Amino acid sequence: MIQLVKNKTNLVVMKFGGSCLQDAKSFGQTSKIINIYMKDNKLILVASAIKGITDKLITFYSRSCEETPDCEDILEELLVSHQNVINEILKKGTPEYKNAMDFLQANLSDLSQLGRVIGLIRPSTDIQDLIVSYGEKLSTYILYQYLLSNKYKAEFVSSEEIIRTDDNFGNALPLLDESEKLVNERVGPILNSKENFITCVTGFYGSTKDKKITTLGRGGTDLTAAIMAYCFQPKYNCKVIYWKDVNGFLNADPRITDKASLLKQISYIEAKELAFFGSKVLHPVCLDVNEKREIPSEIRPFDDPESSEYTVITKDIKKDDKIIKAITSIQKISMATITSGTMVSLPGTVSKLFSLLGNNNINIIFISQSSSENNITFGINFDEAMKVSFLLRNSEFFGKQWFNIKIDHDISLIAVVGGGMLQTPGVAGKVFSTLGNNGVNVKAIAQGSSELNITIIIDREDCKKAVDALYDAFINNG
Ligand code: ASP
Ligand code: MG
Repeated sequence: MIQLVKNKTNLVVMKFGGSCLQDAKSFGQTSKIINIYMKDNKLILVASAIKGITDKLITFYSRSCEETPDCEDILEELLVSHQNVINEILKKGTPEYKNAMDFLQANLSDLSQLGRVIGLIRPSTDIQDLIVSYGEKLSTYILYQYLLSNKYKAEFVSSEEIIRTDDNFGNALPLLDESEKLVNERVGPILNSKENFITCVTGFYGSTKDKKITTLGRGGTDLTAAIMAYCFQPKYNCKVIYWKDVNGFLNADPRITDKASLLKQISYIEAKELAFFGSKVLHPVCLDVNEKREIPSEIRPFDDPESSEYTVITKDIKKDDKIIKAITSIQKISMATITSGTMVSLPGTVSKLFSLLGNNNINIIFISQSSSENNITFGINFDEAMKVSFLLRNSEFFGKQWFNIKIDHDISLIAVVGGGMLQTPGVAGKVFSTLGNNGVNVKAIAQGSSELNITIIIDREDCKKAVDALYDAFINNG
């Protein structure tokens, strides 16, 4: 018998950041958005901690680790911030108000107890993750009670039950196969139910196979939303919307140039480059997850949900478009150069270097090595430069006299990004002639073989001049 393929139901996963959940006005806006989308779609909401709370929890953790911990005032601040929100959005005397207040009290008392035991056990990143996860747990539970109080049908799901990760605490990566199974088991029946339930999922954290809470890195709620859509894409027609306080991806950093404008359509691979360099609009890993199952993704402005000014991210690299989509930058980075006459005869130097940095959690932003192999240059976060200098100079291998280590602190990175440069000759030539004609000295260059970006390193004082010149050359007149 021929089985008719049923049309898949639409499922929209929406990510709400901390500023969407901070007061009566923003909760009102959140519910306005829900109303727009709930008519034609099943909904999963993924929420961040209330604005500012993650930072407070990190402070709470570090204060708890001190020899004479002093955490009372920060606990009080956590209590008051949440109470204020609850008082603004829920009516005293209602069951939802009571549920929210009870949940808050119970969780803060757990937190306070945790703070006390840190002094007794060794401080560790897994305890930090556990502590920081309370932000999302509280905000999402409050959102859930708010929906119930407004007569929506809703469910609350804490993400340690459904998002399985590795044990890289603080920056864990999801294990997609295992998460898919757990998500389907726990959330599948909610979506299947005849009633139109809205599922409220805590963002930002998951757990290891030993049930320890992990966090997905700052801004990780984006990633949670992407994972939810990934898990349901085989059964539903999924889309992810990231509600943000900007309209979407811009083609340059507006803090550096006033030429920046909105990119209305961009491919996953280009967006990943943008998310990595400078514009921290989205958690970079979430684009990878969206790309794996080609889930259409939108970044939309929270304040103006029906605006036509937003970014859509899909698989296609628009052909008729400009070769270069964006000129992005990291204004403040540092660069380390290791020079030695002996690198040629020392195979394994590069691997020793990267193991040293990797084992110490140093993130490398770019690498460039000349073919003479006697020097290697790499970019690192400005804030980590001192640590890198210390590690190299004190290392058994690199600290020896035949290596010369130089760290340059006053540099910027610019990346010219666009899928159109794939197999288009002359892009690098145009980058260098534009910079040369504008008197900008290039200190290092890197291009990945993906050919999605050309990265140049320049003196920081030239950053604005270089971005403006490249923007004019490739985007205004490209
Ligand atoms: N609350 C976490 C943070 O501030 C996660 C997020 O906002 O996505 O980084
Ligand atoms: Mg946040």
